[in-house]
Amino acid sequence: MKDPSCLFCRIVSREIPADIVHETENTIAFRDIAPQAPVHVLVIPKEHVTSLATIPDNSEALLGQLMAAVRDVASIEGLEDSGFRTVLNTGPDGGQEVMHLHAHVLGGRELMWPPG
Ligand code: 5GP
Ligand code: ZN
Repeated sequence: MKDPSCLFCRIVSREIPADIVHETENTIAFRDIAPQAPVHVLVIPKEHVTSLATIPDNSEALLGQLMAAVRDVASIEGLEDSGFRTVLNTGPDGGQEVMHLHAHVLGGRELMWPPG
């Protein structure tokens, strides 16, 4: 269900423009507006889900579809062999700013670990 106050729901409904790189029935992926790496794509469920902390028990299919979309984005962006990082920030300490579940896909350069 769409939340009209949610930025990412408004990207799903095309009210706010985004550079979309991949789309399925239940997911959409677009470039981060403030990229932290040469490739920085956000993969989200079209359905409004707030975060990993509150995801319902019956979300297995949705989460599987999200991860399959991450795989496809990595392939589209040419990251299959070089590798990439997938990050799901959750809540204040996790640095989550947009309260609509999203996976960051980062790649195109060697990434530092731990992230700090
Ligand atoms: P978080 O900090 O919640 O894990 O990540 C939110 C991400 O959304 C940030 O990396 C931020 O740059 C990105 N972002 C915020 N507003 C917009 C926007 O309007 N469009 C796009 N494409 N990305 C956004
Ligand atoms: Zn939303």
